[in-house]
Amino acid sequence: MRVSLIIPAAGLGSRFQQSLKNSDKAEALRCLNKQASRSKLSYELDGEPVLLKTLRAFSKVPEIRETVIAITPAMRPELKKWAAEIKNPGVRWILGGKTRAGSVLNALKKTSPASDWIMVHDGARPLVTFDSIKQVLKAAKDWDGVILARKVVPTIKKVMAGNGHILETVDREPLYEAETPQLVRREVLLKAYKQNPKALEATDEAGLLEAVGARVRVVAHNGWNPKLTTATDLALAEAVLCRENTHLGLGTRDSGLEGYKARGEGRGASPALRFGIGFDTHRLVKGRKFYLGGIVIPSPKGALGHSDGDALLHAIADAILGAIGAGDIGEWFSDRDPKFKNIRSTKILRTVLDEAKRRGWKPYHVDTNIILETPKLYTHKPRIRANVAKCLGLPEKDVSIKARTREGLGPEGEGLAVTCEAVVSMKKVAL
Ligand code: MG
Repeated sequence: MRVSLIIPAAGLGSRFQQSLKNSDKAEALRCLNKQASRSKLSYELDGEPVLLKTLRAFSKVPEIRETVIAITPAMRPELKKWAAEIKNPGVRWILGGKTRAGSVLNALKKTSPASDWIMVHDGARPLVTFDSIKQVLKAAKDWDGVILARKVVPTIKKVMAGNGHILETVDREPLYEAETPQLVRREVLLKAYKQNPKALEATDEAGLLEAVGARVRVVAHNGWNPKLTTATDLALAEAVLCRENTHLGLGTRDSGLEGYKARGEGRGASPALRFGIGFDTHRLVKGRKFYLGGIVIPSPKGALGHSDGDALLHAIADAILGAIGAGDIGEWFSDRDPKFKNIRSTKILRTVLDEAKRRGWKPYHVDTNIILETPKLYTHKPRIRANVAKCLGLPEKDVSIKARTREGLGPEGEGLAVTCEAVVSMKKVAL
């Protein structure tokens, strides 16, 4: 089975833009803060643009040999920017038509005649699972087309046009809501476009095929594969992914560890919580100020270092870098670089926090150990805690400072060094 994938992504997103102006104000404002007036497919979902997430779902499907994306001219620079992130085989983009069916036809003309099947999937349906795609492919044998669909759940009323008078409650038993992917035989789809004068008005491929008497079936699923039409849809999808990602192992079909693994293959979701561990030791010498947590502790000895030697802030900064996978502070602030001589560690922490924010993460809790023989920190701990909380932008209740001695053992016990450890919990920053 050789399949060409077509992604119609040339919609103007007018309902999405309208929703930003009208009823979805709360979500809209959050979105607008960051990403005003762009295509809805450029908006971020779970840390990546919607269109990239959609494409990722298909990147490891072996039957798919090429991918043609139908776009608007405005999306061209965006796609160029993302090109390195797109791992799908044989990706090309072309200009879409005035309607969805027009876009699909433009793309269809560009697909390889070597493909016997065409799979069409909406650019704005990023939550499709690898399993669903495989099921559609598996069901295609002996049929002209297969579409993913969901059983209609709400009660449906048929009403009189104009006054809303209910004529009948429709039997929903045989009703299915058409979704994508839709998989169709290439030659049958070409024929359908040729024979149907109203082809360019069709809202889905199955409809085109039905019109020429082809045999099309549904594959039903129970998951959630919405087309993101309004800002509320996007906010909902973000909330659902965030919840799934933070409840790994709780085990429903789609949200448990198995679901997560499947998504790892299919759409590459990353958990919305991360944890980083940090550690630092500094030698204690006479004639240096003793910085801990950004404040000076009265002491005859201070920490030796290229910077101000604040082992606590270094441990916290390293934990943050660990959580976001950005190396360690040695890579960011080399002790061989003269420009970092005597740098304040509060500045190091600020740089690291900015990088975390740039990548969409922020700390929500930190736990620390300070291992030091003298001076005793009992009276200083509240000040250290208050200042670390201030540096991290956290309430004090979410900052823990614990002080230990080594009972006279080892370099810390002998008063030669201070050691600090930190565990930082980070969360994904919402839209
Ligand atoms: Mg250090």
